[in-house]
Amino acid sequence: MSRVLVVGAGLTGGACASLLRGAALGRVEVWDKARGAGGRMSTSRGTRDAACTADLGAQYITFEADRSEPRRSFYEELLSHGILQQLTAPIEGMVVKKGSCNYVAPQGISSVVKYYLKQSGADVFYEQHVTHISLRDGKWEVSRKTGPPELFDIVILTMPVPQILSLQGDIVNIINESQKQQLESVSYSSRYALGLFYEAGTRIDVPWAAQYLTNNPCIRFISIDNKKRNIESPEIGPSVVVHTTVTFGSEYLDSDPTEVQQLILSYLERIVPSLPKPSSIKCQKWRYSQVTKAVPNSLGQMILHTQPLLVCGGDGFTHSNFDGCIDSAMSLAEVVKSHL
Ligand SMILES: Cc1cc2nc3c(=O)[nH]c(=O)nc-3n(C[C@H](O)[C@H](O)[C@H](O)COP(=O)(O)OP(=O)(O)OC[C@H]3O[C@@H](n4cnc5c(N)ncnc54)[C@H](O)[C@@H]3O)c2cc1C
Repeated sequence: MSRVLVVGAGLTGGACASLLRGAALGRVEVWDKARGAGGRMSTSRGTRDAACTADLGAQYITFEADRSEPRRSFYEELLSHGILQQLTAPIEGMVVKKGSCNYVAPQGISSVVKYYLKQSGADVFYEQHVTHISLRDGKWEVSRKTGPPELFDIVILTMPVPQILSLQGDIVNIINESQKQQLESVSYSSRYALGLFYEAGTRIDVPWAAQYLTNNPCIRFISIDNKKRNIESPEIGPSVVVHTTVTFGSEYLDSDPTEVQQLILSYLERIVPSLPKPSSIKCQKWRYSQVTKAVPNSLGQMILHTQPLLVCGGDGFTHSNFDGCIDSAMSLAEVVKSHL
């Protein structure tokens, strides 16, 4: 029986762990450096009221008419469990391709990842920041920022590619020159997201649930997040999400976060002057937001070492959406199963 580690409790890691359920493996563990599940499918809570939530990363899951058919069962499963619901709220400026369908997660987009983690039966540990991966007695010795190193038979990496390349230990020399070149060619856009959390009973009087802006130098997208997710309750305060443009994200990537927050708020006020004062605000920097160039000709994963198995995947090996992560997760799970 093999001890397996999945690094990353995002969609790829969560879905991969759930696809490994039932395989003849020993214990499967998932480690993530964050305090909770979701990765870039994250749902944040207001500091004053934990019931007030906002999706700061991914907003919708889109079934694409021409591409998503092979993964239809994944959509059907999430819909049948109430994790996903059809987007019905009005979104200004949204382009919907014929035959495509957008879904939202009423409980927050991280509920999709949490669903898979629960299905997996894996032991999930947070605040486990992996720093080194080295070979020891035919196994992988995995070190983290806090806690002793641990040994695993199989390690699956699902974080953004630059974070894979920043790992230390034997992995540095295990990644061969050609793989290194391919991994270094992967690029991501960067952007900021702002979450504004309000007290219960606050009214936000705008006719839309979300809108895309095309001419603003700072803001690309604004949503009344609870309205977008079909949740309007007198007991839970509304929330607003703002995504900046990619140009703004790159320009202010290493600026002081407080200044960036103020700047985004000043643009927001000009666009929606009626917006009330929030009870708390979260400013999230997405250094690795969406993949702009994936690993060329990738099968959804890359095997870095076979005996013991070390394999990496994630949206950097496909593309940045639900289908891309599911494809990578399926491909990762296949590799692991074929090694047993
Ligand atoms: C602003 C924004 C909007 C988006 N909009 C959409 C959308 O509307 N629809 C859509 O389908 N997709 C959207 N996406 C893309 C989608 O969110 C991603 O493609 C997807 O979440 C990637 O999942 P992943 O599991 O591959 O990676 P991630 O979600 O990045 O998961 C990787 C995990 O690894 C962890 N990690 C990293 N390094 C370490 C380490 N050293 N040790 C331990 N853990 C580590 C991270 O904490 C993270 O949880 C959006 C993304 C962003 C940022």
